[in-house]
Amino acid sequence: SLSPVAPVGEVLLAEPRGFCAGVDRAIEIVERALKKYGAPIHVRHEIVHNTYVVNDLKAKGAIFIEDLAEVPAGATLVFSAHGVSQAVRLEAEARGFRIFDATCPLVTKVHVEVAKLHKEGFEFLMIGHKGHPEVEGTMGQLSEGIHLVEDVADVARVQPAQTAKLAVVTQTTLSVDDAAEILAAVKARFPQVREPKQQDICYATQNRQDAVKLLAPKADLVIVVGSPTSSNSNRLRELAERLGTPAYMVDGPDDLQPAWFQPRAGRPLSVGLTAGASAPDVLVRAVIERLRALGAVSVRKMDGVEEHIRFPLPLGLGDKSMAEL
Ligand code: SF4
Repeated sequence: SLSPVAPVGEVLLAEPRGFCAGVDRAIEIVERALKKYGAPIHVRHEIVHNTYVVNDLKAKGAIFIEDLAEVPAGATLVFSAHGVSQAVRLEAEARGFRIFDATCPLVTKVHVEVAKLHKEGFEFLMIGHKGHPEVEGTMGQLSEGIHLVEDVADVARVQPAQTAKLAVVTQTTLSVDDAAEILAAVKARFPQVREPKQQDICYATQNRQDAVKLLAPKADLVIVVGSPTSSNSNRLRELAERLGTPAYMVDGPDDLQPAWFQPRAGRPLSVGLTAGASAPDVLVRAVIERLRALGAVSVRKMDGVEEHIRFPLPLGLGDKSMAEL
């Protein structure tokens, strides 16, 4: 059981936090496909990087696979919010699956931009994290001519075949500050490089990081609800630490550790709480309940921007409300 060293006083909630429009839509696509076609529904990769969400959908009949070889003929297949390479898309189409694409529209926007500029003869530098499925999907829009740069050192090393037509794209969930630093290095080495019209880092990533910048200086520690595989959740935790506030990521209330709650000048602790874009609100509420049990007397929402973005569902799943299915 969790007996903190110091009592918790107030909980400060970052605003905004938690689900973004792309995650909301991706989960709803799987839910609606299950209702409409029945279990099992196959999903390529975790629909979003959250353990609770994935387990919940598994219990409802979703089967998560990495390799299309695991998908039987005639299956209904959903692509995760992170997007897929052209190779995966073409293989899935060739095998005749009923496909629903839960790729976030903001990732698809990057794919479309890559295809368009490629036709115009551009080569690409992609700022992102190696091995992340979104990076594999975006780089996999082309068979060649797209180079990953993970940091400033990579920018110094990368060798595009030509530099007259060079464009930058980024992963949507990067640290805004790191991406700016890497982009500055790209521009210093390749002054003629074409930048994204609007940056590729999405509104949800930007807003959640902005919220942590307000939260961290006011809190003794910051807790980020998110799964270890979640890129944007990891970035929130890192950001709070960079601002000098100890920060921890939890998948849920059971991950809270007593050692995190160290006394600060003999007063009750102020605990900052946020959640990555793939972390459901039910987990945030469960963490709040646990903090209340540890003595938290008040929960205060920080000021922050309101988000109103919603993305339409794909054809064939978006035409009826859940109640009618
Ligand atoms: Fe889309 Fe951004 Fe959410 Fe990723 S974090 S699903 S890019 S809105």
